[in-house]
Formats: sequence, C-alpha cells, structure tokens
Amino acid sequence: MGGHDLAADVGAFLARHENELIEFRRDLHAHPELANAEHRTTRRVAARLAAAGLRPVILPRGTGLLVDIVPPNCPEPDGNAERPVVALRADLDALPMGDEKDVPYRSTVPNACHACGHDVHTAVLLGAGLFLAAQAAAGLLPGRVRLVFQPAEEAASGALDVLAAGGIASVGRIFALHCDPRLDAGQLGVRSGPITAACDRVQVRVSGPGGHTARPHLTADLVYALGKIITEVPAALSRRVDPRSSLSLVWGRISAGTVANAIPDGGIAEGTVRCLDDEAWHSAPDLLKGLIDSVASVYGVNAEFSYQRFVPPTVNDQGSAAMISAAALDVLGAGSVVHTAQSLGGEDFAWYLESIPGALARLGTRVPGSVVSRDIHQPTFDVDERAIGVGVRVLAATAITALWDDGVMVAQPLPGVTGA
Ligand SMILES: [Zn+2]
Ligand SMILES: [Zn+2]
Repeated sequence: MGGHDLAADVGAFLARHENELIEFRRDLHAHPELANAEHRTTRRVAARLAAAGLRPVILPRGTGLLVDIVPPNCPEPDGNAERPVVALRADLDALPMGDEKDVPYRSTVPNACHACGHDVHTAVLLGAGLFLAAQAAAGLLPGRVRLVFQPAEEAASGALDVLAAGGIASVGRIFALHCDPRLDAGQLGVRSGPITAACDRVQVRVSGPGGHTARPHLTADLVYALGKIITEVPAALSRRVDPRSSLSLVWGRISAGTVANAIPDGGIAEGTVRCLDDEAWHSAPDLLKGLIDSVASVYGVNAEFSYQRFVPPTVNDQGSAAMISAAALDVLGAGSVVHTAQSLGGEDFAWYLESIPGALARLGTRVPGSVVSRDIHQPTFDVDERAIGVGVRVLAATAITALWDDGVMVAQPLPGVTGA
C-alpha cells in the first residue's frame, strides 16, 4: 500500500499495547464464561472498544458483539459500495471443565476453563481492532472492517446467531485464527480447502409387529433387520460417495428387545457422521435415508430416520487462504507460514463459509523448543502469550491485504480540496 510499512506500524502499536493485551487475556482466563453466558466478557470488550472511540453493538441475545471500523469518507456498505466489508472473527466462550493449571491467572470459576484458547482469540481480535482503528484515523485503512466477537462456539450455535442477526450482511470475506499447540508461537498454519470436519448425529428407530422367535416368517424379524441396517448402511455408504470425502457413519448406541424368545416391536440405533468434504456433507441426509429405507423394506420393518446437523466442514476459499498467507509472510517473515493438515474436529466458523468466502488459520501457541504438548480441550491447556502479538499482526495485515485485493480504490476527496 503505497510503500507504507505496515509491519513497522503494527510493531510500534504492539510496543505500546502488547502488555495490555496479555493482561486482558489473563483477566478473561481468570473469569471464563460458558456458551451464551459471556456477559462479563462482552462488557469488557465493548468497554475497551468504546474507549477507543468505536461503537460496538451487542447481539440480540445479550452476549457477543459486532463493531465496524470505518475510515473517514467511507461509503455505507450497501449494494453500491465499491469495496466489500472484510470481517475478522473471534469466539468468546470457555469450556465446562476445571482448570488444572498452577498459574496466577488460573480460572476462578468452578467448572469453567478457557481450554480452547478463545480468551487468546478475543485478545487478538481486540488488539487487531484497536490497531486498525488507529490506522483508519491516520487515513491508512482502505475500507471498512467488521470485528465479530461471537458467543457460543463450543455450543456450535453462536455463528448461526451472528448470521441470524445480519452480522455478516455486506461482508465480502471473513477470517479467523484458532490456537494450535502443535505449532510454535510465531508460526501460522494455513490451508486451502477443508481445514476442519463436519460432525452430525444420526438416529434410526425401527418398528414392526413383534412376535414369537419360533415364527419370524409370520412377523418382521426386527432385531435381524436392525443388524442389517447397522452393518449394511455404513458399507453401502462407502460405495456411494467419493472415498476422498471420508464420509463415515459410526454407531455408538444400539438397543432392542427384552427377552430371548420374543421378537421386539421396536429398536434404536444412534451414531455420528463425520465428513471432510462439503458436497458429501450436504448430500449425507438424503443418501442415508434412502439406504436405511431400502434395507428396512427388505425385512418388512418400518424405519424412522432423524438427522441432526451440528457443523459443516470449514472449507477455506483458495483466494482467502492466499491472502492470509501473504499477509502473514509480510508481517512475520519467511519461514513463519507452514502448511497445516485438516483436523477431524468441528468448528462453527464453517457456517460463515457456507455463505461467503474466507479462511481459518492455525495460530501457533507452543513455547518454541518445548517438548510438552498441552492439547486444546485439556484442563492444563495454556499458551505462549507471544502468540497474541503474532495474531494481532496477522489479522490486521490480513484485513488490509483483503481490502486492497478485493476493492478498487474508493474515490475520496484529496486533502485540502473541498467543494467545487
Ligand atoms: Zn473448542
Ligand atoms: Zn475453539
């Protein structure tokens, strides 16, 4: 951007604010709040943004907030805007587990712990937002940036609430970071295409007339039919979808009958569907229903099928992944950006990417050189807090890169040239 040194600007910002951001993260860590109960966290973030002259808007359910950083003379984000809004997203919620660390900022709330690093995500987005607001005031922000502080990621409902509230209306691209203890602090893991997996729930209830086990031909042999469903449906599935999608159905519960010599009149099987591919994920419910019905009909039982969506796979758009990668190289230097594998975990950021392009990247949080690996969702999870400054650099640079790449220059009056 006109040769202006973004890396130097964000470095100077962090020299003044990095300690504040680390303190902010520690305060959230000591006061974790579960999904949809992030009231204190929401208030603290909103107060800090307001102190910087921004105008945060709390989401309708009372937790989570949005705020736009708007450069002077920036047009309203409607259909005529020359440059689409770029959104940056963090999640606010903690997990329902104890904190087993021995640190001064250990959780003070029983059975609540920031074991997924969402306190880090929140501090990073706050820092990026404060920096971008300063850039906007200095005339160095080329378009509008929306900060999305989302509640309830662990409940897989927060992103849907943001979408329902119109939180990404007129947003053209969205980015997020997630802590990754398998990468060193200072590293960023990037991937084009799917980066997390889909995970859904399936339930099959079978019913029939029931009867004596001496005469299965006079009724419907329900237990046999249920056995066929639980073995043949996963087998048939593997021959009906592209094996590269890794669509898998694994049963976790099965139940039918009460006594050895009576065919029961009802039974149930429950399991999960995991999938790495978005297209296969969309087709899964219809495909499963067809397979279950066809097996059930052979044995004369009735099958009721229910499919509960949890999250789709997070599928990074190629252009967005390239933007975050280029931005990170610019502010972190060569060797800091590494390729990352797809995880079988779920992440509700996927819901945004069902409607707009964007990318999620992995923020390294391991102490460089350390051999101890404390995974996310473990009660001892903690981070190398230098990752916060790294995250601020990456998100801020990514927003500016995306604004420049996506838009044409918005015509603005030259300084000192007003009126006609
Ligand atoms: Zn988590
Ligand atoms: Zn998480």
